Formats: sequence, structure tokens, C-alpha cells
Amino acid sequence: MQLQELQGHIRELASLPETRSPMVSCYLRVEGGRLRHRRTFANRVEELRRSFAGEAAELFEEALTPVERFLSGELHRSSKGVAVFSRAGRQPFFLALQFYVPLPTWIAADTLPNIYHLVELKDTYWRFVVLVCSQDTARILSVNLGAVTLDLLRERPELRRRVGREWTREHFQRHRATRTGQFVGDAVKALSEVMTAGSYDHLILAGDPKMTAMVRRALPSHVASRLSGVIRKPGRTGARDVVAESIASFVEAEHKESHATAEELQRELRTGGLAVVGTRSSYFALKRGQVETLVMDAEYSPRPGWVCRGCRLERTVEQWPKKCPACGSHSLEDLSIREAMLRLAEQRGCQVELVRDSATLRRFGGVGCLLRFRPGQQGRTRPPGKTRQQDKTPPQRGWRGTAVTPTPV
Ligand SMILES: [Zn+2]
Repeated sequence: MQLQELQGHIRELASLPETRSPMVSCYLRVEGGRLRHRRTFANRVEELRRSFAGEAAELFEEALTPVERFLSGELHRSSKGVAVFSRAGRQPFFLALQFYVPLPTWIAADTLPNIYHLVELKDTYWRFVVLVCSQDTARILSVNLGAVTLDLLRERPELRRRVGREWTREHFQRHRATRTGQFVGDAVKALSEVMTAGSYDHLILAGDPKMTAMVRRALPSHVASRLSGVIRKPGRTGARDVVAESIASFVEAEHKESHATAEELQRELRTGGLAVVGTRSSYFALKRGQVETLVMDAEYSPRPGWVCRGCRLERTVEQWPKKCPACGSHSLEDLSIREAMLRLAEQRGCQVELVRDSATLRRFGGVGCLLRFRPGQQGRTRPPGKTRQQDKTPPQRGWRGTAVTPTPV
């Protein structure tokens, strides 16, 4: 699945209207076409089953049936994670997504889908390009959500050893150096085109240390600024190994980038810029459509607030009043803040940056927002955020291969 497709599913889930029927959200780790933690799944279903009574219990069972049918017959052997959302009742809904990257085993039943783990997946396994170089091959791979979606290979034309006949050793070595330079130049040119055409923001270089060092020196500045990591591997290397390692290297780079976003939040705050922090301010900035980037600690788990069933008044504080201060209704229910924030962010097309282990963000209560504009102001005062696109790579002359059906790593 390409990132844009995942983005579309997340937006659809975030925009689903609430109904009285429970929505079952399942995130599951799978392996070889089977559930990895079947017992955990069964126990959790049993727990949820006991939490419903009457009509809700029937609707829960009805929602569960297609989930179980899917899990017992439709898992791909190469999937590592699946996410399934199911609801019965008047507005039935079913969506099952399979990924080449693992997901945690986590099951819930609520009035709306839980999208956190999909947002996390989108944030972590982004998209990047890897250039793998050995002494005699160059390979360009693009990786989207853990799958290879483009695979281009170029082999270096063989050098005939002519030392001793026509050429001196020095002549041959000079000739070889020139040819190596040309080979690296061609690889960099193709790489640059792939990255521009597919709007890739991240590059990883891998392979022979000497060759990767040459490639690095030859990168034009707009490509060099997107270099996220270098993996040194002498000799010929299997693409599969390199891609698995480059995912790890990319996740590390993404981790650093998210810390940089938390620091930017702090800088904006200190200079009276476009930022808010804390649950209440962030929540209402999202409601007002002011947010460009929602920055959230991966461990952020605020206590629920409340929402009035009568007039939909929402508050992020956990103390429930005796009745709704706006309409007097006694019918109040839990507001799951983290999910509500993610839903708002995804509905409005905000960037979401999940941050791990940032003391800065924890000081702010685990959440904050970079804003597009200040309250009362019109329009954007911040440049638009980056867009994430599909591959639109033109065929490369002299290279074998092209866009491929996504294959697991
Ligand atoms: Zn009310």
C-alpha cells in the first residue's frame, strides 16, 4: 500500500459519523498468514463481549463476524500487520488493511474507529529512496511503508584489462578512475530524477564504503540535504538486507526529525510565534482549524474529557458537571482526547508528528501544535507544509527495471 492510499483510508476513518453501534478496531501482528497472538486476541474479544449488554451486545457480535471471517481466510502470507475496522447496524462499515510492516496487537470497541496506530504507521514508515552501490552495480530502490515500489539496476560495463599489451598500468588506472567517475555520475543523475519525480524527502546511501563516499561527494545540494543515513557494506549486497537495514536507519532519522519538530514548537513558543501547547489549547486550536502540525508524544494519554449528547458541547477537563452548562442536558459521555485530536487533525489534513522520548514535549504536557495563523487572523502566515506524493518516476535510460508491484522486505 502506498502512503497516499493509507492517508485516504485514515481520512475516511476519521470522518465517519458516530452511531450507537460499536465500532470494532483491531490492530494485529500477523506472520505467515496467521495471527501471531491469537490467544491475546481471543481474550480481548471476550473482555469486550462482557462489556456490552442487550442490543449493543448483538451489534458487537454482528460487527465481529466479518472480522473473524477475514482473519481466518484472507490474510496474505507476506503481511506482517493488519488493521480491521467493523461496525454493524444501520450504517454498517468494514475495512481491512494489510501491511508489510508489523502492527501491535491491540483491540477496542468504541463509538468511532481508533486511528492512533494507523497514524503512527504513517508517521514512522514513511517513504524514502535507497541507492545501493557496489564496485560494479548501482541499484535504486524506493521504499513505501515497508515495501519496495521501484527497483532500478545498472551494471557497470566491464573494463577490459589491456595492461601489458597496449596500455601501461598507470594508463589503465587513470582510465578506470575516469570510468568509475562516469558510473557514479550516472547513478547520481538517475537518483536525482527519481527523487524529484516522486517528491522524496529522504535518501539512504548503502553499499561499498568507497563508492558511497564518491556518491556522497557527487550529490547535488538539493539531494544532499535529504540524506538521512549511510549504511556501509563492502562487496555485493542483497537488496533485501539493505532495505531492511535502511528501514531501521530511516526510523532513526524520523525519530531525530520528530525531536526537531518538538524543538521548533519550543522556539515558536518562546518567540511569541505560531504555537500552542497543552491539551486544552491544542484541542481547541484543532477545532478552529488553526493547526498546521500536531506534535504529540507517543506516550500521550490524557484522562478523558466529556461531551454533551444534547448540544455536543465539549470540554477537555475530566470533572463532569451535574448537567451541561450550555443546554442543561444530563446526558454526558467520555471524550477520548487523543483520538479526538487525531481525528480532527486528519479531517483537516494537518501534519501529525509523533515524538518519542522528548523531555521538551513532556514539559508541555505531551502535546502541542504549530499553527497556520493566530486567532482572529485570516489566512496562512506560515508556508504550506510538504505534500506527500506517489511515485511518478520516468523510465531511466541505461537502467533495468521500473516501478514494481510492491514487494515485502
Ligand atoms: Zn449540552
